[in-house]
Amino acid sequence: MAKKEQTPKIYFLDVTNRDGVQTAKLGLSKLEKTMINIYLNEMGVFQSEFGFPTTRHEARYLEANLELVETGVLKPIRLEGWIRAIVGDVKTAFKFVPNIKHLNLSISTSEQMLKGKFRGKKTEDDIIKEMTDAVDAAKAMGAESIGVNAEDASRTDLSFLVKFGLAAREHGADRLRYCDTLGYDNPFTIYDTLKALGENVEIPLEVHCHGDLGMAVANSLAGAKGAVDGGQDAYINTTVNGIGERAGNADLVATVLALTKSKGFAKKYQLGSPIKLSVAAKIAEFASYAFDVPIPMNLPGVGANAFAHASGIHADGVLKDPENYELYSYKELGRGTPKFVETGREIISGQYSGIAGFRHLMGKMNVSFASRDEAGDILELVRYANVQSHKPLVEDELLFIAKHPLIAQKLLTLTPLVLETM
Ligand SMILES: [Zn+2]
Repeated sequence: MAKKEQTPKIYFLDVTNRDGVQTAKLGLSKLEKTMINIYLNEMGVFQSEFGFPTTRHEARYLEANLELVETGVLKPIRLEGWIRAIVGDVKTAFKFVPNIKHLNLSISTSEQMLKGKFRGKKTEDDIIKEMTDAVDAAKAMGAESIGVNAEDASRTDLSFLVKFGLAAREHGADRLRYCDTLGYDNPFTIYDTLKALGENVEIPLEVHCHGDLGMAVANSLAGAKGAVDGGQDAYINTTVNGIGERAGNADLVATVLALTKSKGFAKKYQLGSPIKLSVAAKIAEFASYAFDVPIPMNLPGVGANAFAHASGIHADGVLKDPENYELYSYKELGRGTPKFVETGREIISGQYSGIAGFRHLMGKMNVSFASRDEAGDILELVRYANVQSHKPLVEDELLFIAKHPLIAQKLLTLTPLVLETM
């Protein structure tokens, strides 16, 4: 693969529906995961790592979302599943989710993991063999794009990472994911490593950063710069509101802001596809509601205090000219429209809701039904959605169910597929 003629670009690959939902104490219903995919698509995110194709309870959700791709509802976003880089996982993924097109295959590469996790039972050559066998299998079974993830890459010798990346490339992988699994890198080290990988492996690079040392966004920016300077496209992994394992991942909105608004960066390092920042407030608020985790008040762009000014000098300055004390406008992030908060009687959707209340609720959003039976069918789906999410559905969820009842039915069907021991 030769170096590209045009300047490499930076793309977003959001992993909220994988890293976010595997976070301790947190989770999303299948409808909520679907809504995240819809908002990511609206925002212009290139790819969503939308779940786990080897997990039985994900299968219907994954297939239903692939149907939304087929019908153009989820377009142009690419949906990709995360599995381990072993042939068994590839086979299971295609068995449970036959229409899966895009995969990321993950395996640990560091000496620490070889000793500490695999207990010395696997050599570096074994790791490469397992990974390349898995890539071969995925290609043979029809995968259209494959990313290969080096887990704990930041604690892996560069020479082995290069060897690993070259093997992945030779077997037809499309991207190499550099996982700073423990948030161990800093902007200087990750820049050097990604530049070296770009130059020596010559494959598009994913940058996957965690915030254990408070540098997930800074490292993502530096890693992407390294990849581009090394001649390769960069795919930054993010999550909405930075929700992810332990201290979390690079926050989607903060990373977009860092790439596009920080001092001089965007002059040379450009996005491969435009991001609609105006969706920022909406996706952050939905993720906060769905995960039941408040948006930190100081979160860039979307936190409650992101545009709040109290001190005399700052308030005076920002009133004279917002640019005195703000780098970007709240309007750009989809903020500033007054919110309607019900303070009187409220009719809410729930798992025991009845038809009259439901028709009233939908009528407020100008949705009417052809018949009482049709309304009853949609209500039935809304009840099931509520059983899964344990909270009233937001307007967009209700509208989604009304518009795509058969998809919603698939998302909400959670019958255990096989009970092997009974
Ligand atoms: Zn991670």
